[in-house]
Amino acid sequence: QAKEHDDRQYVYYQEDMHKGFEEEYVLENYLRVAIENEELFLTYQPKQDLKTGKINGMEALIRWSHPKLGMISPFKFIPLAEKTGLIYQIGEWVLLEACKHNKRLQMQGFDPLIISVNISAKQFNNKEYLLSTIDRILEETQLDPQYLEIELTESVFQNPTVVKPILEEIKQRDIRVSIDDFGTGYSSLSYLKLFPIDVLKIDRAFIKDLLENEDDQKLTQSMIDIGHGLNLKVIAEGVETAEHIDVLKTMNCDEVQGYHLAKPLTADEFVDFLNNNKSRRV
Ligand code: C2E
Ligand code: MG
Ligand code: MG
Ligand code: MG
Repeated sequence: QAKEHDDRQYVYYQEDMHKGFEEEYVLENYLRVAIENEELFLTYQPKQDLKTGKINGMEALIRWSHPKLGMISPFKFIPLAEKTGLIYQIGEWVLLEACKHNKRLQMQGFDPLIISVNISAKQFNNKEYLLSTIDRILEETQLDPQYLEIELTESVFQNPTVVKPILEEIKQRDIRVSIDDFGTGYSSLSYLKLFPIDVLKIDRAFIKDLLENEDDQKLTQSMIDIGHGLNLKVIAEGVETAEHIDVLKTMNCDEVQGYHLAKPLTADEFVDFLNNNKSRRV
């Protein structure tokens, strides 16, 4: 009886493993052709300056719409792309699309915005490749580098000797550098003085319960103060309510991003958003 039970568990366990493995394999093959098949697209989520109320930037967020599987979350396929090396091709495509979009908005006469692009730690493994890709895309799109920002997570600082010279080259080009998901990584704060950084982006985890959780308030205020002490801009992500905005204003936070302002928008929706926002502000 007991043995039978064990065997059955073992079989289930194997099947689960197999299923996970197979699913990943299938997904990888789908992802390989996703760019050519035009299944990938970018959405753009605006950022707002809390002092002026102006929209001053936007973040490019990738989307994958598979004809059979539907929408697949970047939380699922970006790690897969990193594991398989597809992130290089996808990252290049994202950067090009994002710069094109920003240049197009400028050509249409909107006030210049900063576009931020998420770059995964893996893309920092090859210095020459990353820098030459950035240079080529800026040249091709004729986007002024001061309107490009890269968002990186603290995980890149695990490799300081490789990453520091790359970030210095990026700074030399006048491109901005932002630390995404700030406060959730495991790296030491000393990287803030070792690397050329412009922006701290406080993770949504601290903002979610900001109104009712005193610890989150204290941590958020501390992160804002640390940023300002080092002459960095501080932005809060995941801002979902007007009350969040009020609290963050009293805390002297510089910028906000989140569903309260807008969800990630398609390129066309983003143009509508800018037009509506202009008429609303007067
Ligand atoms: P992230 O860079 O930290 O982006 C913020 C995520 O929070 C986005 O999820 C965004 O849609 C979501 N979000 C924004 N405002 C709110 C809010 O008010 N409430 C809530 N609940 N969520 C909000 P998304 O678009 O699913 O992206 C997930 C992650 O995937 C990103 O986290 C980023 O790490 C990665 N990712 C997305 N696009 C790219 C890309 O082009 N390249 C790379 N390497 N990674 C990307
Ligand atoms: Mg980001
Ligand atoms: Mg983030
Ligand atoms: Mg995040």
